[in-house]
Parts: sequence; C-alpha cells; structure tokens
Amino acid sequence: MTDTHCPYCALQCAMSVSTEPAQGRTQVGPRDFPTNRGGLCQKGWTSAEVLRAADRLTHPWVRRADGRLHPATWDEALDRVTRDVLAVQAEHGRDAVGVFGGGGLTNEKAYQLGKFARVALRTPYIDYNGRFCMSSAAAAGNRAFGLDRGLPFPLADLGDADAVLLLGSNVADTMPPLVQHLAGVRERGGLVVVDPRRSATAALAADAAGLHLQPVPGTDLVLLLGLLHVLVAEDRVDHGYLEARTEGWAAVRRSVSEWWPARVADETGVPESTLRQAAGVLAGARNAYVLTGRGVEQHTHGTDTVSAAVNLALALGLPGRPGSGYGCLTGQGNGQGGREHGQKADQLPGYRSIEDPAARAHVAGVWGVDPDALPGKGVPAVELLKRQGLRALFVHGSNPVVSAPDATAVRRRLEALDLLVVCDVVPSETAAIADVLLPVTQWAEEEGTMTNLEGRVLRRRRAVHPPGEVRDELSVLVELARRLGCTAHFGTDAREVFEELGRASSGGVADYAGIGYDRLDAGEALHWPCPAADHPGTPRLFLDRFATPSGRARMTAVRPGRPADDLRAEAPLFLVTGRLLAQYQSGAQTRRVPTLNRSADGPFVEMHPQLATRLGAEEGDLVTVTSARGETTAPARVSRGIRPDTVFMPFHWDGAANVLTNDATDPVSGMPDFKVCAVSVVRA
Ligand code: SF4
Repeated sequence: MTDTHCPYCALQCAMSVSTEPAQGRTQVGPRDFPTNRGGLCQKGWTSAEVLRAADRLTHPWVRRADGRLHPATWDEALDRVTRDVLAVQAEHGRDAVGVFGGGGLTNEKAYQLGKFARVALRTPYIDYNGRFCMSSAAAAGNRAFGLDRGLPFPLADLGDADAVLLLGSNVADTMPPLVQHLAGVRERGGLVVVDPRRSATAALAADAAGLHLQPVPGTDLVLLLGLLHVLVAEDRVDHGYLEARTEGWAAVRRSVSEWWPARVADETGVPESTLRQAAGVLAGARNAYVLTGRGVEQHTHGTDTVSAAVNLALALGLPGRPGSGYGCLTGQGNGQGGREHGQKADQLPGYRSIEDPAARAHVAGVWGVDPDALPGKGVPAVELLKRQGLRALFVHGSNPVVSAPDATAVRRRLEALDLLVVCDVVPSETAAIADVLLPVTQWAEEEGTMTNLEGRVLRRRRAVHPPGEVRDELSVLVELARRLGCTAHFGTDAREVFEELGRASSGGVADYAGIGYDRLDAGEALHWPCPAADHPGTPRLFLDRFATPSGRARMTAVRPGRPADDLRAEAPLFLVTGRLLAQYQSGAQTRRVPTLNRSADGPFVEMHPQLATRLGAEEGDLVTVTSARGETTAPARVSRGIRPDTVFMPFHWDGAANVLTNDATDPVSGMPDFKVCAVSVVRA
C-alpha cells in the first residue's frame, strides 16, 4: 500500500494505491486528508484504470519517410530529436524551437523543463497549458497582493464562513469532495453562485436558501461592479480596513458609481432585487469569502474581472483576515506548482521574473551558467502555438489539439512544424500527429511533489513499475540535454531535482527552500513560502501585510468590455464551455476509462427548451453549432437550467467545443477567451 495523491485536479485528494502483482491488479482507495476528508470523485476512484489503458505507450515511436509512426528504440528516437533540433537551430536559430508544458507535471518535471528550455535549448519560447487555466487570476493576484497563490488559506477555513460568493466554478462536478467544505455556509443560507447555467453547484446554492445569479455570459465584471456599487451606496464597506490595508480605493469607488442596480440588471439579466440580496448576504456575514474559477477568468477581460472580484473582497475587508478572504480555485493537478518554477514564459523558479537581473543571476548561479546566456521573456501559450518562426516544438503532458482554443487551427500549425516531439503516457490526439513520441511515466509510477490549490506541497510516490520501455521524463530531459551538447548538470532523481529547485527558489516569492522530502514524508503540512528547514510554512498569507512594496493591497479601477466574439445576426447565441464530472480536461486519460465513458461518452449541446422549440429539436436530436472558427455536430440536451440565449458544450472531446472557441486573449494575462463566443445552432 503506497500513500499518494490523485493524478487529476488541484484538490489532489489523498489516496492509497495497492497492488496485487499476481493478479496484475492495482487499486486505489481514499485517505483522510484535510482537503478531501476521505472522499474521492469518480475520476479518482477509477484512476488506476489509466495505468493499464489498452493503448498505453510502452516504447518510443518515430514518424518515418512513409509518413507513419513506427515503433523505435530510445536511441533511434533521441537521435532523431537531436538531429532535427540541431538542424532547425542551425537553419533558423535557437528561437525556432519551443516548449509547451503542462499543469499536471510534478514540480520537479516542470522545473527541469524550464531549465531544459533555457539552458539546453537556449530558447525563450516556453509556456504551458496552465496559461489556459490560471493566468488571469494569477495576474490579478499579483496586481493586487503582489503574490499569486490560488487559495491564500487552507480550504478547511471555508467551513466557518457565513457567506461564500463563488463565481464561475462548478466544484460539485469538477471537485466533488470540496463540497464538504461548503456544508456550513449552505446550512446558513450564505452560498451565492454566479453561473450562466444552473450547474450542480448553482443547484446547491438555490436548494439551500442560497442564491444563484445567472448573468448573460461575459457580463460578470458588470455584475461585480454592481455589487460593489450597492455596498458603497448602502455604506456597507469596511472603511477601517480600506484605510489601513489598501490603496487605490478612491478611484475604485468612483468607478463603480456608474453601475447602479437597474443598469446592471439591464446588462446582466440579474434582477435588481437579486443583486441587492447578494450584496446583503456578503455584507451581513461575519466571515465571508469571494472565490473565482475559470468561468469568470477565461475571457479577454478576465484579469479585470478577477480584479473586480478582489476589489469587492477588499471593500468588505476580507483578504488577510482570519476566517475570510479571496481565493482562486486552481483547476489542474499541479496548476499552482506548475506556474511557480519556470514553465511560464516570463518566469524563473521561485516565481521570479526572468527580466529581473538579480533573479537571473541567482538562478544562473544554481544552474552553473552565465546569467547573460539565459534567454529573456517568451510569449504566452496561444501566441507560442501561433508563432510564425516556430519550427520545432516539445509538448510535455498536454494535449493542445483538443484543449487549445480554435483547435483546428492549432492542429494545422502543429502538423506544419519540422519537428513535433510529444512526451506522454497515452497516444493523445496531439501525440498522434507527433514526429517523435516518447513514452513517459505517470502518477503512480513516479516520485515527486505536487502543489495543491492551497499552495500546500504534497508527495507523489511510486506504487507500481512502469510498463515496457517507459522512462521518467527527468531522465529523458537529461539525455536530450547531453545529446544537444549541454554541459550543465541535470538531475535524474526526483529528490535531487527538488533539492535543486529549493535552492533555485530560495529568496523568491514561491520559496520552497525549507521544504524537503523528509519533512513531507514525516507528514508535515507545508505551504509555501517556507524559506528554511525550521520554518513551519505559511498556510495563511497576508495576515499582517500584503506582498506589495507598501504592504497594502492595490485596488485597480476596471471597466467592462464586450466579448471579443460578440453576438450578431448570423451568430445570435452565446456558447459557454466547461467540464463534466466524469471527464477531465482534454480527456486524454479519462476517455480511456470505460466506467467514466459510461457516464459521459461524448459531447452534447445543452440548450433551454425555448431554444429547442425554436430549432424544432428534441432531446437527443443532432444539432450543428457554428462559430467563426468552425462547426461541430452533437446531440441536443434540453435543460431549463441554462439561459435561453446560451448553449453549453463540454470540451473533453476532439473536434467538439474547441473547434468553435476563440483564441483572442486577455491583454494582461494572455489567457484565451474560452468562455464566451458567438455561435449559430441549427438542427443537423
Ligand atoms: S479528480 Fe480532483 S476531486 Fe476527483 S478524486 Fe481526483 S483530486 Fe479529488
């Protein structure tokens, strides 16, 4: 029996993995842990099935002259990668090679990948799929607090809240064990959910004397300005807190004055009385939280929308007050750690800026290279995938052919590269178009650490041996660096790499220097920053000061904008996309689990009965959804829970939701506008 954590989302539920080698069986069971309290969702319960997926990659593959992938030895595959990378670099320069990482990689792998890009490939062009998932909240967190940690408090703190405003997150489907932490606030009638659909989470609020606010897609920012307007008008803001702990309040107060309730109701479709009721629930709470998810973040004005949520929380005096706060619910398993240690285009380990000379000197010292040899800042994920000069790309733990916006265009660009190298555990849709496919270990086959949505560092432990010729990604990167002529040291052992990561992060914002495998294995709960071996970690941030130069939270006045792809005569409906209980992200893992497929076996188009009647469609009828990017056909699912002007599609399948979505991005964070685009729908 080996104690580890779930391979999927950022809740990182604790589980034990047991094996019966004679029967060839591996099973998981839940463990008690502060976040999941002994719970697992369907995905966690069935996670062992991915270990024995029928099409698990067990040896390398190389695309040969006949255009097809063929089984290959590691030597042949690595030789091919080396030869082609060197050829691309010789002809087009080092900037022609890029790296696309993943928010599911362990801290050690994310760190090593960033180092590999900067030191072995010497390219600035690295980014990762966390850009799709976390970047607007990260940008707004840095803007306001000077630091980005999803939850700056332990999840269990939510249990005592009198009010929780949950914006754009369907945790009842995406992280079901988290719902236990909302039981108290539900009982007290203080759960307020903002979602254009009556999601499973919205139903939890509405069914328990809470509130479900169902705004027009893309108007969350207006709604937040309206809530703050009401609080100001009713003089229910925390003046003492604003005076002592914030800056910028005067401009924010002025900016919300034009968003009176009737105007907000007109723009958002949320009745004035409901808006006032929601403001009253928040203002009347002794302890309250404002939490955001992808629903309000994945927009071209996502950073400003999160800033508006933060402003609201600050006006109520919540962040940095025990028992209250603002937080962002990280999605991917290591979405938090993945963005702290060098996968992001502009960052070095420890959440350091790659443009800061002191940070470059520190990290270069740990890596044993000249700071001037480190490349500068790259570009965010969408721009990286579109970059004209890109000729070769490494993809690690990501499936952008399904998960990126405007996915058909992404597929075309990846197919046109001189070299696409994919490291993965199964033949995902992106792996299927690779030139070289390298099979690597997955969660229960490897050692490492993950950082959960609370900023708590957790141990992932090896429970089973990988099949066939599968290798650990750390050793693959070591070997590639060596073959590319890099003389810098790269560790192959996860513990050694984590120790190096600790030194590289030391003194940075996300300081892991005091976190070691021994402390984690002894059961210590260590949240970063943890700068020394005798430091207890920091479960609650901002209690005395924020991480800004002045120590005060910076409030930013923000203005709403229209969606980049707005309604028009030929596209009169909003499309919103999201996740289902039984599938995870691009589905590369969960679509290989028969039990999960029985619950969710393909895409659908959720629509209101009024729209279905207008289209002449009934439940199960095929409908075609068309956007400016493409079209897809799926069965209709009729539900009174969605707005009549909106359709919803899950994004877990190839050729479905993301062939429609827009790759316009937020100007601050680079996050794509997954959550709202204009479509037409007709019966197929
Ligand atoms: S997918 Fe998330 S909520 Fe479900 S078991 Fe895994 S960590 Fe827990």
